[in-house]
Amino acid sequence: MSATLLQGKELSLQIQSEIADKVKALTAAGGKVPHLAAVLIGNNGASETYVDHKVKACEKVGFKSTLVRHDDTISEGDLLRVVDELNENDDIDGFIVQLPLPKHIDVNKVIEAIKPSKDVDGFHPINFGRMAGNMPAYIPATPDGIIEMLKRYKIETTGKHTVVVGRSQIVGTPVSILLSRAAYPGDSTVTLCHRHTKDLASFTKSADILVVATGIPGMISGDMVKEGVVVIDVGITRVEDKSRKSGYSLKGDVDFDSVAPKASYITPVPGGVGPMTIASLLKNTFLAAEKAIYKG
Ligand code: NDP
Repeated sequence: MSATLLQGKELSLQIQSEIADKVKALTAAGGKVPHLAAVLIGNNGASETYVDHKVKACEKVGFKSTLVRHDDTISEGDLLRVVDELNENDDIDGFIVQLPLPKHIDVNKVIEAIKPSKDVDGFHPINFGRMAGNMPAYIPATPDGIIEMLKRYKIETTGKHTVVVGRSQIVGTPVSILLSRAAYPGDSTVTLCHRHTKDLASFTKSADILVVATGIPGMISGDMVKEGVVVIDVGITRVEDKSRKSGYSLKGDVDFDSVAPKASYITPVPGGVGPMTIASLLKNTFLAAEKAIYKG
C-alpha cells in the first residue's frame, strides 16, 4: 500500500485564503479588522518560532496582530494583569498566551483568567466544557486542525477504532473527545493511551485511525500498526542535526519510513498537523471577531 500524504501545509494555505476572502468581505461591509494578540514570555526558541508563524499568518490573511512580550522574570500577578488588560481591550478580538510558561507561574490560573469569549486557543474550562458537551465553543487549535484535515480529505471516521497516544489537555484529550462525539468527523470508538498503558502496541495495532501526540520522536514503528491505518502525527521535536544550518531538524512521534508503507493516509512532519494548527487559530480569531460563538 502506498500512503496518501495528508498535506497540511497546502490545506492550511487554502483555509487561509478562504479566511482572507472573508476578511475582505467583512471589512468591505464596514466591519472591523479582526485583531489577535499573542503573549510571549521569555526566550524559548520553539515558542518564539510558533508565535512568529502565528503573527505572520495573521498579516497574510489581513488580520491585525499584536505581540506582547515579557521577560521570564515576570511575576504571576503581573502576567494576570496583562491578561486582564487584553480582556478589557475592545480592539482585541482574541488572544493567546503561548505555553509553556515559566515554572513559577500557575498556568491554570492564567488560562482561567482569560475571558472565554477571547480564548481563541480554546483552553479555558468553559470552552473545554462546551466542546465536551457538543455546544458552540472555541476548539483548541491543534485538535480542530486535525478534525478539519479528516473532514477535507473525507476520511471515514464513523464506527472506526481511533487510538490516541498522549492525553495532554491541549492535544490528546480534546482529540479523543472530538473523535468520539456524535458528529462527523467523530462517531468513532476511541481508546486513549498514555505512559501507564500496558502493551501499547496491542492498541496501536488495532487502530483504524492513530493519532500520536507524545513528543517522543519515532516512538511508533511499522511493526506497531496495521495495514491501511490513517496516521496523524502531532509530535514535533527538535533533534540535533549538524547537517543543517539551524543545527536541528524536526522529528515526529511516528517513524515515517517504516509506518508510511503500511498506512492509507499519513501526515508528514513538518508540513502536516503544524500548519493546520495555525489555520484553526485564525479560524477561531475570525469567529471571535464575528462574535459567532459569544455574542457579548
Ligand atoms: P505533553 O508532554 O503535554 O503530553 C505528552 C503525552 O504523551 C502525555 O499524556 C504522556 O502521558 C504521553 N506519553 C509520554 N510517554 C509515553 C509513552 N511511552 N507511551 C504512551 N504515552 C506516553 O505533550 P503535548 O500533547 O503538548 O505535545 C505532544 C507533541 O506534540 C510534542 O512533540 C509537541 O511539540 C507536539 N505539538 C505539536 C503541535 C502542532 O501544532 N503540530 C501543537 C501542540 C503540540 P502521561 O499523561 O501519562 O504523562
